[in-house]
Amino acid sequence: MTTFAFTPPPQPSVAVAGSGERFPVRRVYCVGRNYAAHAREMGADPTREPPFFFMKPADAVVDDGATLEYPPETGNLHHEVELVVAIGRAGFAVPADEALGLVWGYGAGLDLTRRDLQTQAKDAGKPWEWGKAFDHSAPCAPLVAVAAAGHVNKGRIWLSVNGAVRQDADVGQLTWSPAEVIAAISRSMRLEPGDLIYTGTPAGVGPLVRGDRVEGAVEGLPPIRLSIAG
Ligand code: MN
Repeated sequence: MTTFAFTPPPQPSVAVAGSGERFPVRRVYCVGRNYAAHAREMGADPTREPPFFFMKPADAVVDDGATLEYPPETGNLHHEVELVVAIGRAGFAVPADEALGLVWGYGAGLDLTRRDLQTQAKDAGKPWEWGKAFDHSAPCAPLVAVAAAGHVNKGRIWLSVNGAVRQDADVGQLTWSPAEVIAAISRSMRLEPGDLIYTGTPAGVGPLVRGDRVEGAVEGLPPIRLSIAG
């Protein structure tokens, strides 16, 4: 039996809709620029370049309904609403036409971003982590199992701040579909049960300030609600 030097930290996890069970999180993968209109608003070429990825730590996940302190070392915290794919079966080098077999379920998530730090890093050719992978940077709504709701590859995706809609698009506009994203990640990394994939955000990203109430949603899935402490 393993004896640890100290009590191991708790297993990060996300709620499962309509269930007392929780989905244990192993890794959080994120796709960059996966909607053309968002690529354009970030000053990037929206042509269908191969997907690229970054990661957040598993313990960056935050449940629905949380109130977060405005994060440190930023003056430009941004919201990004995203469809989250939850992986339930392992796979390596999975072709796109078999990729959805790895999916356990789906959720709505927020890829919170310290945009000023990300922009500085981009401009300097440095890593994105300090802009993207900070504490509490991955709020995620309760997940819905494929067995309960089927696969999600279209439907409205939107986000409001204090009741005003800021992002409003359709998951069908993803440049790279969930199946194609799974295929691409699995060419480089073995996906395992417990992996989450934040599939990218549509246009309309913008700043959050202290006291804001955020609600993000994907049609057919529970919303992700978040408050920034005043
Ligand atoms: Mn994102």
